[in-house]
Amino acid sequence: MPSKQPSPHTVLKTHFGYDSFLPLQEEIISHVLAGRDGLVLMPTGGGKSLCYQLPAMCLPGMALVVSPLIALMKDQVDALNANGVAARFINSSLTASEIELAQAQASRGTIKILYVAPERLAVPGFRRFLQGIDLSLIAVDEAHCISEWGHEFRPDYRNLRQLRGDFPRVPVIALTATATARVRDDIVEQLGLQRGRIFLSSFDRANLTYSVETKEGFWSKLLSLLNDHNGESTIIYCFSRRETEELAEDLKDRGLLARPYHAGLDPEVRRRTQEDFIRDRVPIIVATIAFGMGIDKPDIRLVVHHSLPKSLEGYYQETGRAGRDGLPSECVLFYSRADRAKQDYFINQLEDPQEQRNARQKLSQMVEFAEVPTCRRKSLLAYFGEETMRDSCGGCDVCLAVGDEVDATEITQKTLSAVIRTGERFGALHVARVLRGSREKRLLELGHDKLSVYGIARDYTEDQIREVIGHLQARGLLVRNEGEFATLSVSQRGKEFLTRREGLSLPRLKTGADEGRPGASTRGIGERRAATVTADDYDQELFEELRALRRDLADQQGVPPFVVFGDVSLRYMAAAFPQSLENFARAPGVGKAKLEQYGERFVAAIRGYAEPKNIADRTAEMASSTGAVAASAESRQERREGRRGDTYELTLALLSQGLSISQIAGERKLAETTIIGQMERMVSQGRELRLEHLLPEAECLQSIRDAFDLCGYEYLKPVREYLGPDFSYEEIRLTRLHLRQEEQGKTE
Ligand code: ADP
Ligand code: ZN
Repeated sequence: MPSKQPSPHTVLKTHFGYDSFLPLQEEIISHVLAGRDGLVLMPTGGGKSLCYQLPAMCLPGMALVVSPLIALMKDQVDALNANGVAARFINSSLTASEIELAQAQASRGTIKILYVAPERLAVPGFRRFLQGIDLSLIAVDEAHCISEWGHEFRPDYRNLRQLRGDFPRVPVIALTATATARVRDDIVEQLGLQRGRIFLSSFDRANLTYSVETKEGFWSKLLSLLNDHNGESTIIYCFSRRETEELAEDLKDRGLLARPYHAGLDPEVRRRTQEDFIRDRVPIIVATIAFGMGIDKPDIRLVVHHSLPKSLEGYYQETGRAGRDGLPSECVLFYSRADRAKQDYFINQLEDPQEQRNARQKLSQMVEFAEVPTCRRKSLLAYFGEETMRDSCGGCDVCLAVGDEVDATEITQKTLSAVIRTGERFGALHVARVLRGSREKRLLELGHDKLSVYGIARDYTEDQIREVIGHLQARGLLVRNEGEFATLSVSQRGKEFLTRREGLSLPRLKTGADEGRPGASTRGIGERRAATVTADDYDQELFEELRALRRDLADQQGVPPFVVFGDVSLRYMAAAFPQSLENFARAPGVGKAKLEQYGERFVAAIRGYAEPKNIADRTAEMASSTGAVAASAESRQERREGRRGDTYELTLALLSQGLSISQIAGERKLAETTIIGQMERMVSQGRELRLEHLLPEAECLQSIRDAFDLCGYEYLKPVREYLGPDFSYEEIRLTRLHLRQEEQGKTE
């Protein structure tokens, strides 16, 4: 039957509101439109859904989507409906008459996409129903569930083979974010995709920044992270159920909205917690790994690991829940050897020796990731067999520390010598103890207190020496030999280093912040991280207003906020200030249906914000930056150095000319909060700002100072509440900046 297929590009804009495709999407879509099978391997956030949703819109007939995540189906269908796509789902949460209704609509040809759970395929009535449907394609989401080698095997997925038999000519597209070769082969085999094509994308999550922190000073580091991500969705992963409850309690005591989540909680409590998180009512979830399976929230900005994950695979999956929408998001792992010991303890309880060996190997890879400071991204990707050529990823703590190195020749010589003198038969801990001159029993028994290297690095802590050892491993001067107890030996390169008396620089150490000693860290977490946070210059205040509007609308309609608009759309609006429907339509994520449904409300809100402030519509200047922010290493770099640099320098220059915040904001056509935000970042990077002309009078200043002393510096809200309405947020924020600058002056 000849059909007028709408073109993929048209559907992309009218239904999904995007101007361009993400990598591989276009290829996959034309492949499916040509009626061929395919397997799509893409990381979370890669944009898999569009690969079957869009062809479904172009092809005549109805697409069948098989998905195991019943809890998510409703959200997915709501999101499609909001985009003006006729979609329905059938699963066990529906009543018999609801199912009948959906099937009747499908039979009449009024549904373009139907989501079903795999168990449905075995229901005889459902099979009969399908026989009468003109199927355009079959999409198998979470396709790894068909494989016993995967971590989420679902026997019901075996029903797909028979479905395949029933519809031999309908193209099948399978999608998964699991990359191991074994699972991939299994999917091809089980689904009979031999003649299909495999689309393998990189598993690099370019918009995520990875860092590893020592657990020393955990609370202040955590609070500073949460403060940076104030109000944004955050998951904190813990080792045990008890830990999740304690940590959530402690956070609540500090006035933060946090909830625990673990498999031991009442299912109703769990369901509510999950829902409150998805609906943006609770920003922080403190969870065991049980949390996340049924979560598809696109705007999680921070994933913290309070304790060490069991494997790199788990770590990749858990951190992978951050930033699905492609916007910059952060992943921070807190590491301590005590956590490692905890995991070891559990591994020792395993009964099957093979299982024990496997678990130990996985843990040791995880430990190496945490202890050896090579590019975190490179290590993660290497684990999945993906090589990266780039030397610096520009988005992990190791790469970002480059350029801030200190001379470490002496400690390197000492460390290598200690490894040699102890016979290359010991691990990092013992070597550190020897260097520190420890009185530990075994060390004395071995007579290591008689060695010439004994106690020659007493001014370093054990953790610092371990950190140095990690760096030397990363640079190939030391080699770690796995075994029941890992031992260190000096490589050929290490020996050459000693004989040639070369010099060596290493990044500043993160552990222990004693002043004055070479290599000691003098920068706090906030400062190093400040360089990594890559928000574009959107107006924060307007963004918050639009977020609130989005939530109200979502609540009215009983859908999650991201169904209304994602953060990508809101940030664009808060940067472009579109003040006509025509310009609003150009925002990413605004298709025809959403323009009609929400356009007026949002444009009114934007006008209400922009007009009194004389902020012009900047849509014309934004033309090229639609779509998800492509956070490749280059664009990260560019953002940090180029645009960011310029915009900061400009603010700095205007400030030193004695302009007020509102004058600068006017001059730069940015919001005042944006300007103050830039100033905060510059101060945290140690830049000196001229502030005197911005500060309140001496008496007010003193009151604000007292309030900060009382309430702490982390949050503005308690300080504002304490001071009362006579003080503005702006005054308080500027005073805090002044106090920080004062503080820095003292420590220098
Ligand atoms: P996955 O299923 O692979 O995890 P999704 O299908 O949920 O990924 O898509 C991830 C995010 O990317 C979503 O927020 C989606 O709206 C967005 N997205 C998908 N395709 C595009 C595109 N062509 N342009 C811009 N954003 C897109
Ligand atoms: Zn890196």
